[in-house]
Formats: sequence, C-alpha cells, structure tokens
Amino acid sequence: MSVSQEQKISSTSTLKEEQIPQKQQCQISNLLRRKDFKSVVRILQTDKKSRTNYQKLKYENQLYHVGQNLCIRGDNRSIYVAKLIKIVKLHDDQDNCLPFIKVQWFCRKTELLGLSKDYLDCISDNEVFKTNEFDYIEIESIVGLAIILSYEEYDQIEELNDNVYFMRATYINDKLQPPFDQWNKVCICKKPPNPDLKYIFCEMCQKWFHLKCVGLSYDQADRINKYICPECKN
Ligand SMILES: [Zn+2]
Ligand SMILES: [Zn+2]
Repeated sequence: MSVSQEQKISSTSTLKEEQIPQKQQCQISNLLRRKDFKSVVRILQTDKKSRTNYQKLKYENQLYHVGQNLCIRGDNRSIYVAKLIKIVKLHDDQDNCLPFIKVQWFCRKTELLGLSKDYLDCISDNEVFKTNEFDYIEIESIVGLAIILSYEEYDQIEELNDNVYFMRATYINDKLQPPFDQWNKVCICKKPPNPDLKYIFCEMCQKWFHLKCVGLSYDQADRINKYICPECKN
C-alpha cells in the first residue's frame, strides 16, 4: 500500500506516548484483532493530529480516487460493491501507521429484506442498490474498480465484464427508492425486466417479452426472424 504524499490534506504527526493511555492502546490492539475498524477510527480520530486524509491512493498498481466505486472482497470471499468516501491514515502511540478507507455500501439482491420470490426474480445478480451504510475497512480488501451503469446503459452492453453493475433504485433505511411497483415493467406479466433472463422483442409494439411468458423455448426464439407478440396478434 502506498498513499501519494502530494495528496495529503493535513500534515502527518505522530501521537506521543502520553496522548493515548496504555489502556486505550490495549483496547485498539483488541479492536484491530477483531477487525472493528470503525471503533478504532472513532477512538483515534478524536485527536485530529493522529489522522491524515488523502484524496488518492495507489494499491497494487491501481490508482483510486475518493468518489470512485470499488469491488471489495468480504470476509466470506464474496465480492461487494462500495463507493470510496475517505482515505485515512491513523497513527497510534507506537507510530504504527493504520491505513483505512471509509466506504458507502451498495447492497445486492440477497441483502434486500422482505421481498417475495416473485420480486427477487425481477432483480439481476449484477444489480446494486446504494445504501446509507458506511464502514471503515482495510485497504487490502480492495479488489479493483467497479463500474455502475444505469439500467439502460447496462442493457446496451454486448459483452459484460465481472466488474460491471447497474443500479435502478437505492436501498435507504431498508426501503427501495423508487419503490418496486414504480419500476418500468415489460411483458404480458407486467414485471420489471431482469437482464439475466431471456426476452424476445416484438417488432410491432416494440416491447420485450419473457420467453417463458409467451411459451417459447430458447431454440424456438432463436429461429424466429420477426417476432409478433400475442397482444399484437389479437
Ligand atoms: Zn413475462
Ligand atoms: Zn407486440
């Protein structure tokens, strides 16, 4: 990990031995072992001299800026998406440098509470929802940059990379905004489109239909040159 020195906002200074009581130092060591970085930052940042903020950081040959979106490796090895809010270096009384980033989490469909299976079927595995949850985490958990597109932009992409996601709603205080029933709907089933599923385009009404809902197999749909949906046929 290296943080570009020219981006430093305030000057680095080290805490003197007497500034952090022995008891607090012991508490910090415990918190670090438990990976409770939020509490470490809360204890150390009360003394502004022990904290340094940066706008950029370089980690594994990639430059990251505050405001960019990141892929983060969780403790369970799954990948999470978060916005980089702050880059902080803290100094404890033994002049150990403790680098952290503050992130704002985006959640995935598995983290949405109380949605029925019917709703979840309309949500993509690559869909993210901005939350109002923040955390301080280790720089070592950064995997790379994440790209978050609108639904329309995402829908236009032919070949998808692992780090490309899209967002059509936020999830603040456990509530979707806009609410699920206000999302754009497609097909005769009138459900929000999920780009993970197969659709067929009607040449007449210019709308998308689930293969399943219009009774077509993937092979059948593949052989159709110009599709006319059941609504337009009637
Ligand atoms: Zn449908
Ligand atoms: Zn049609």
